Parts: sequence; structure tokens; C-alpha cells
Amino acid sequence: MAAMDTAADPRFPVPGLATLLWRGFRKTCPRCGQARLFGAFLKTQEHCPACTQQLGHIRADDFPPYLTMVVVGHIIVPLILLTEREFQPSIALHLSLWLPATLLLAFWFLPRLKGMIIGLMLHLGLRGDETQ
Ligand SMILES: [Zn+2]
Repeated sequence: MAAMDTAADPRFPVPGLATLLWRGFRKTCPRCGQARLFGAFLKTQEHCPACTQQLGHIRADDFPPYLTMVVVGHIIVPLILLTEREFQPSIALHLSLWLPATLLLAFWFLPRLKGMIIGLMLHLGLRGDETQ
């Protein structure tokens, strides 16, 4: 916790975990919620322009894509099975429906889940380069 407090504006106290996660999900700075978390699609800003929280050094690595696969898989696979059981559409119709849906959901969830992971890492005081 001390590492995250050193560079940030003291006018913005560290919120609780639920707030950190929600602000990350909204793709805003987990600490203040007033500025964008990402400069590009998944590129974290070096620091928050509103509260000066250092963000660029936090490395979420493979956890956001892993979570995205889990979440999107738990949405898409039941829908595929339900559709197959109820309507038995052709394979071509399955592919034309579920491949774009999977891509859209993955691109929608990935930055949001990365924001949540960054919020979680801020809460835990992690940067992602720790060694055991
Ligand atoms: Zn901020």
C-alpha cells in the first residue's frame, strides 16, 4: 500500500476494493475515477492526469486475457449449446453467429477486466514485477 501512496495526490484517498474494481471496470483511474485508465486500447497511461497515481509500471500480464476467456466462454458456450438444442442450425450459421459474438465480447471485456486487475493490484500494492 505504501508504494502506491507515495506519488499520488493526497486529495484522493485510496478507495476500498469494490470501488477500485468498479472504476477499473469503467476504464477510469482506479484511485480517483476521474481520468481514463488507458491511453490506447490496452496501453495503461504512465500516470493519472487527475490524481497523479503512477499506473504505467503496473503489469497485469496474462491475467486479464485469461479472465476474458473464462468470462466470454461462460457466456458463449451455454448460448451455443442452447441454440443447438432448440434450433439445430447449420454449422455455417453457428460460425457466422458465434465467432463475431465471441470477438465482440472479448474486445469489450478485455480492457474492462484489465482495469479491474489493475485496481486489484493497486489494492494489494502489487506492480507485477515481484519475484518469489
Ligand atoms: Zn486518478
